[in-house]
Amino acid sequence: MRLEQEYFQVSPLIVPSDIETTIKIKGLYEHNQLEDGVLYDVIYYPKEFWSDGYRKEKFSAAAQNGELIFTRAFTGEQEHVFHVIRAQDDGEKVIGTFCIYSLQDDLFQRRPYKGDVHMHSHYSDGLESPAFVAASCRKVGFDFMALTDHHRYAPSLMPIDAFQDAAVDLAMFPGEEVHPPGCYTHIVNFGGEFSVNELFHRKDYQAEIDALIKRLGKLPAGIEAKQYAPVLWAFEKIREAGGLGVLCHPHWVTDRRYNVPQPMLEYMFQQEIFDAFEILGGVPVEDNNLQHAFYYEQRAKGKKVPIVAVSDSHSCLNTDEFGHFGNIYTLVFSPTLRLEDLIQSIKDLYSVAVEIMPGELPRVYGPYRLVKLARFLLREYIPHHDALCFEEGNHMLAYIRGEKGAQRKLELCQGQVNRFRESRWAK
Ligand SMILES: [Zn+2]
Ligand SMILES: [Zn+2]
Repeated sequence: MRLEQEYFQVSPLIVPSDIETTIKIKGLYEHNQLEDGVLYDVIYYPKEFWSDGYRKEKFSAAAQNGELIFTRAFTGEQEHVFHVIRAQDDGEKVIGTFCIYSLQDDLFQRRPYKGDVHMHSHYSDGLESPAFVAASCRKVGFDFMALTDHHRYAPSLMPIDAFQDAAVDLAMFPGEEVHPPGCYTHIVNFGGEFSVNELFHRKDYQAEIDALIKRLGKLPAGIEAKQYAPVLWAFEKIREAGGLGVLCHPHWVTDRRYNVPQPMLEYMFQQEIFDAFEILGGVPVEDNNLQHAFYYEQRAKGKKVPIVAVSDSHSCLNTDEFGHFGNIYTLVFSPTLRLEDLIQSIKDLYSVAVEIMPGELPRVYGPYRLVKLARFLLREYIPHHDALCFEEGNHMLAYIRGEKGAQRKLELCQGQVNRFRESRWAK
């Protein structure tokens, strides 16, 4: 965390490209107030480019009512850095280095939403209750979540139910981990309005698969129709349910080999049968490393690959094998937090994968343009966002413990994250 972020507020933080915008920098505490009437020197650096070359520029700006104010148009889509100095008789005093980010309209109209769409509760092989998982998601800074127990859809509805009468801003969506019978491939149904696992028990299921196998005809070498067809069928059903079909952890080593054989994996990408690829999941670092290498290779081949990153957590206290809860997540740039918008934004390649291994700095994967923006947000925006969520998550935990006053505390917090988010964007 930079001192400037704690001591000052820069408003707005996100501005539209190439449109004149007024920036205000304000000291938040007594020890760092800006003085009215004083002219401060600002050395301005666009981080990537000027429209006319590579240079920095110096200008002066005055403080009014404790705020340093200046107006300019910010070139293109990039970060902009302002180094602020106060000239004094005995030299100069550095006030701080401040940053904003200018965005092209398609991104400027979107907001960043953090979430995890693959987690387990004690209704499958996880440790905790669905409501505990949801509250823990808020505590680590998520805006949305879906519980995805193995073979089971009903548990994902439980947190929605548990917080029905509470003022909760976390968006909770249905989900399940889908396991077509006899198949090794794991799939997540994120947000679908019905369970796909339940369809496998229908009596016409096998006949539909047999017919599909016939229709598919001869498959490339190394691919078994009885493995491929049910997976293809399941992804189609998830789409019918309005969900996002996620191909999970193909490089997870289980039974001493990868969860999905390479020819099948290649073919699934070639045929584009899934909606999103789990580029990072609840597997060891080396398996996740292969998944993101595979992703970049597919992108280099010209494939458009929507991505999610998930913890596949079995314990929100990270007592499970890999401990990724809160440390691996998806950042989606979406017009709203509504399910349809999140799903469409992921499909339209507006998401990145964030990975923060314990004791290390964050790594972000995905489209270059979004990775740059995400790195800025991880530094300048997300710490404050997460602090507000942390408070709400604790109140959610108190609420499900039945603590008196928790409901009232949640009411007092309601809307604070949205207000904070909007306050960071130029109007
Ligand atoms: Zn799995
Ligand atoms: Zn799982």
